[in-house]
Amino acid sequence: MNDARRRQQRTRLLWLVLALLAGVALFYAVSAAARPGGGHTYSGGSSRSSSSRSYSSGSRSYSGGSSRSSGGGDGDAAGLIFQLVLLCVQHPALGVPLFVIVVAFFVIKGAAASRQKGWSTTTPEAVQAVERVEQSASVPRGQLDALRALDPGFSLVLFEDLVYMLYAAVQRARATGTQALAAYLSPNLAQALVNPHLADVQGIVIGAMRYVRFSGPPGTQSPPGTQSSPGTTVEIEIESNYVEVLRAGGTQRFYAVDRMILTRAASARSRPKVRAHTLDCPNCGAPLEALRGTECSYCRQNVGFGRFDWMIAELSNQTRETRGPLLTSNVAETGTESPTIVDRGAAQKFEELQRKDPALSFQALQGRVGLVFSELQVAWSGREPLRIRPFVSDNLFQSMYYWIDLYTQSRCRNVTENATILRIDLANVLSDAYFDAVTVRIFASSIDYTISDEGKLLSGNRSRPRTYSEYWTLIRGTTRRGEPRRDSACPNCGAPLQIGMTGQCEYCRVKITSGDFDWVLSRIEQDDSYGG
Ligand SMILES: [Zn+2]
Ligand SMILES: [Zn+2]
Repeated sequence: MNDARRRQQRTRLLWLVLALLAGVALFYAVSAAARPGGGHTYSGGSSRSSSSRSYSSGSRSYSGGSSRSSGGGDGDAAGLIFQLVLLCVQHPALGVPLFVIVVAFFVIKGAAASRQKGWSTTTPEAVQAVERVEQSASVPRGQLDALRALDPGFSLVLFEDLVYMLYAAVQRARATGTQALAAYLSPNLAQALVNPHLADVQGIVIGAMRYVRFSGPPGTQSPPGTQSSPGTTVEIEIESNYVEVLRAGGTQRFYAVDRMILTRAASARSRPKVRAHTLDCPNCGAPLEALRGTECSYCRQNVGFGRFDWMIAELSNQTRETRGPLLTSNVAETGTESPTIVDRGAAQKFEELQRKDPALSFQALQGRVGLVFSELQVAWSGREPLRIRPFVSDNLFQSMYYWIDLYTQSRCRNVTENATILRIDLANVLSDAYFDAVTVRIFASSIDYTISDEGKLLSGNRSRPRTYSEYWTLIRGTTRRGEPRRDSACPNCGAPLQIGMTGQCEYCRVKITSGDFDWVLSRIEQDDSYGG
């Protein structure tokens, strides 16, 4: 082989390699966009990637088909390709076929990953840090409703508020100490939790929660097959974001999936609604400072060990990553085609609501959903969180605020245009002493893209709409009556809505986002994380 021919061959190979590389790059560049309310993966990938559902004889079973392809990643791939290019040039007979095989592997792997990933894959270390836990079986939250047989004051809405509050408190306690929380923690956990390197844990935002396990005390009809312990046990999986502040200086943001096991004695009863949003003595409501360990200096009771209220028995971290969410990429929709998970009693329970309040029709409720939906698009696209404040619960607002703030900081925005609701299905109705909760599944479509503040298109498509579905849960106080409002006026005083961060009307000063006045959106769940 003469030199000229060899050069020519090398050039040809180089072009082939470049063409293949371009193909791979193009494949990776295909990305969709996000969705109002953090409908895009909260965590990136993790919350969306898993749980392939299978339906058999009406019962739902989850097989955690997660298998997130994590190791390797783009960084490793680049190194490998470079080696292969060298090989192709030096030993074409071996290098070229090998190269083709490797490229085919990456294309197939990329196809799988593009359905799953949502986090940026900036560094190989970060990629390796992600090991998605298999999503285990979940129980429908309606099972906890059985607690009301023994404890009529039990409210799922208030329970979930408490879970959020306890989770945030326990995360902070890792830095600031667990003494004040002694009544709410098992002694072992209180000891093991504190990390001496932490000065604080801040900005704790919960993106999603799932019920993994529930067993109630006798008399609450715990599900067949579960071992009834004398008390109540609830295991919850929580996806969250928080920032650790180190004593040595510096901060680090984490996305985490944690498991939290809550227990309480069979004799424990839910606290009254007025105390639902404060951590205090689980028995008498004295301020936490009144507690000496688990002993209350007011009521003189030992209030720990779940005797009077929920206690965190265990907290374990399933996975934790240091990467921030990638705002300009997203997973494809999964689950939009799957049938709606409808609770058996949903239609009948909605009729009961209507008997109580004839002004409440499904059509009127759909009108309310439509208003919230369109306000949400405006708030999201315009990065105006206050715009959606009147229509969402505190926890949901916190989560949305987090996302919108992240877009603002990243100097980009996720724009939705021509957003339209295609259909609304009734999925579930739950009523307790304080709230009625209606879960619907909405099918919608919109143009969805992300642009930088300079107007550069970062991801998504400016002309082709995408279709998706989500489960929305709206709540309203049980004593409230009347047709759901479809306009932007204060449901208490009728003034045009001017709502501050805390959800209070600036005219009548009443907090209108508790659901005491009109239906507010309290949860948005994706198809693959909604468990009923
Ligand atoms: Zn007390
Ligand atoms: Zn008002």
